[in-house]
Amino acid sequence: MTEIVAIDGPAGSGKSSVSKQVARELGFGYLDTGAAYRALAWAVLEGDFELANLAEVDLDASFDYAISLDADDFWVRVGVHDVTAAIREQRVAEFVSQVARIQTVRDFMKRLTHRLVAQSGRAGVVVEGRDITTVVLPDANARLLLTASEEVRLNRRSAEIGVNDTQKVARQVSQRDASDAAVSDFMTPAEGVILIDSSDLNFEQTVAAVLETIANATTKD
Ligand code: C5P
Repeated sequence: MTEIVAIDGPAGSGKSSVSKQVARELGFGYLDTGAAYRALAWAVLEGDFELANLAEVDLDASFDYAISLDADDFWVRVGVHDVTAAIREQRVAEFVSQVARIQTVRDFMKRLTHRLVAQSGRAGVVVEGRDITTVVLPDANARLLLTASEEVRLNRRSAEIGVNDTQKVARQVSQRDASDAAVSDFMTPAEGVILIDSSDLNFEQTVAAVLETIANATTKD
């Protein structure tokens, strides 16, 4: 059985970089679930689908999506297009919440996540994204919520995207958190989910805290 580590958290909590490093250290695959939402948003922006009727689209049949589960060789594809860089563009970040709030899209993403984990062929997978610990993988071997204070998250996001305009980043991050929060509560750990607040931890310390939590969670099984 593939061991599953589910990691949830808001924008700028460091969940992507921490999850990748944890996957490397455990020799596990890494699955960025936000990439599929971004790739679908990209496909809508490219005109492949219309937002207005996206809820009725059979995404299992028509959204040709592929993603690498290798933290050191990461790529995302839609059909023949490599969208690894394109899905990080500002226009996608600003649009993605509109796609993510459609319930049939979320149902599709859940099926997609289960399929990608089942087909991973790995001993374990670190699966990262909002609502992963609650809705998508409530039976994961370890479930963690990674948070940080708003100030710390804004600083990290500015450094990540290379923007010095803190107000602009604040607007982006807070807006996205607010629209996402309407869909899933990612600041409060659900029952059985372990909270790790990384506000006062550096990257290595956060990775160590996550690894320790996983070790404790999995020895209890
Ligand atoms: O994690 P990332 O910032 O790439 O996610 C992009 C967007 O995809 C989020 O802002 C959210 O709207 C959506 N998302 C989601 N559930 C997930 C992962 C991402 O709703 N599990």
